[in-house]
Amino acid sequence: MQQLIFATNNQHKIQEIRSIPDLGYEIISLKEAEINIDIPEPFETLEENATEKSSVIHKLTAQNCFSEDTGLEVEALNGEPGVKSARYAGDSKSFEENIQKLLSKLNGIENRKAQFRTVLSLILNGAEYQFEGICKGIILADKRGDKGFGYDPVFLPLGAKRTFSEMGMEEKNKYSHRKKAMDKLVAFLHNSKI
Ligand code: IMP
Repeated sequence: MQQLIFATNNQHKIQEIRSIPDLGYEIISLKEAEINIDIPEPFETLEENATEKSSVIHKLTAQNCFSEDTGLEVEALNGEPGVKSARYAGDSKSFEENIQKLLSKLNGIENRKAQFRTVLSLILNGAEYQFEGICKGIILADKRGDKGFGYDPVFLPLGAKRTFSEMGMEEKNKYSHRKKAMDKLVAFLHNSKI
């Protein structure tokens, strides 16, 4: 099976991608590729950060690889936390503190609409291709569930009865921004016949 390096240190993201059935590619984590770096996310857009991550790994390995950058975009907060989602409450990148900051900013606000947006950057034979995936939903007032990561406990996808944190990976993949972007990437790879 062909190998693709996934340029992330986030084990949740690796597991989510690996749980996609019939992917047709062996996903190699940075750890498995013996790359031990914290790739920076210095830019103001998901697109630029995704490009940065895949480019750094491609320069190191000269192999086909992909990366992703994801943000939670909340309508009533003009798209915040967006590209700053990981460090919303500070550099400690604490999921709990980020959620508490989000909930306090939304306290008393009726419009709870939000979306996760993922940008995947694939470097294939030296050329870059990007794929986007969006999952719309609402931010609940309280956390529900204990699975997943990040803002999962307070995010209820449109059409779902359970938060991402109450779902197993298979169920999350029915709605997930990351899965939608990954489907586009995989379709592209299959059409490219590599
Ligand atoms: P990044 O793409 O690793 O920079 O992700 C930014 C932040 O967004 C993460 O630290 C999480 O807090 C959040 N995030 C990304 N994807 C998800 C998801 O699928 N569920 C919940 N939170 C997420």
